[in-house]
Amino acid sequence: MNNDSQISSIFSEGDVVLLIDRRGKRYVINLRTSDTFHSHMGTISHDSIIGEQEGSWLYTSRGLRVLALKPTMAEYIQDIPRKTQIVYPKDLGAILLLGDIFPGATVVEAGLGSGALTIALLRAVGPTGQVIAYEIREELVEKALTNIKTYMPSIANLTVKKGDIYEGIEENQVDRIVLDLPEPWETVAHVADSLRLGGVLLTFLPTILQVHRLGEALQTDARFQLVNTEEVLMRPWHVSPNSVRPEHRMIGHTGFITTARRCNPVKKPVSS
Ligand code: SAH
Repeated sequence: MNNDSQISSIFSEGDVVLLIDRRGKRYVINLRTSDTFHSHMGTISHDSIIGEQEGSWLYTSRGLRVLALKPTMAEYIQDIPRKTQIVYPKDLGAILLLGDIFPGATVVEAGLGSGALTIALLRAVGPTGQVIAYEIREELVEKALTNIKTYMPSIANLTVKKGDIYEGIEENQVDRIVLDLPEPWETVAHVADSLRLGGVLLTFLPTILQVHRLGEALQTDARFQLVNTEEVLMRPWHVSPNSVRPEHRMIGHTGFITTARRCNPVKKPVSS
């Protein structure tokens, strides 16, 4: 995506485009001069999309119509190519709010995975903030960076560190630490050393046994307070003229969000 793409409604080279056919089937493409979109509906040349406005209807070589839009962040993330589990839009909003990810914040994240959460963090910290993402599996990094670069106007404020965050966190005075990996209790001491006072630790864990183990580790380290765990249940609804009811299917479970604040240990009162 070029720098103006999230502001301008005109499609240009490099933009990500969401095409939706008459039946609601979705395709995400990356606009490249001279490329062609192929599907069972026929073809559309990318050149004919460049210069059009989002929200427009396009016609395939077989005369079938498709709606063209720039995907919202949630729409883009939902369809990104992945080699790992990703954090879904259902949880991303809550993570940004409960983790209090603010414009200008310095955020340490692990693991990078497919880059879905990283995209949301980068957008929330904005150009004046920064995200430092640790990833132990080197082979994942290039793919994740491609996913991120395709959507973000700039990744100048993203640093990727290939390595094991359980071994330590190099950054100090960090505002927020966001962990989406299996054993966050391994990092509790490093997190406490790296977070600034008042900073927020947020973890995303699929099972409550992991949450319990993390809770024990946080309790043992006197530098954490306000430990809190929540999960997000989102129930989609079917709304049409003759029927208004919950959808038959919903996402039953993804993960638990746990937060904690970095504080000073309690001082023993000085006896007089
Ligand atoms: N949040 C990511 C998905 C993360 S999946 C997204 O939304 O796309 C968990 C990732 O953590 C995996 O890529 C895994 O390789 C990485 N990981 C696991 N243990 C790690 C460690 N000790 N240090 C750094 N990364 C780790």
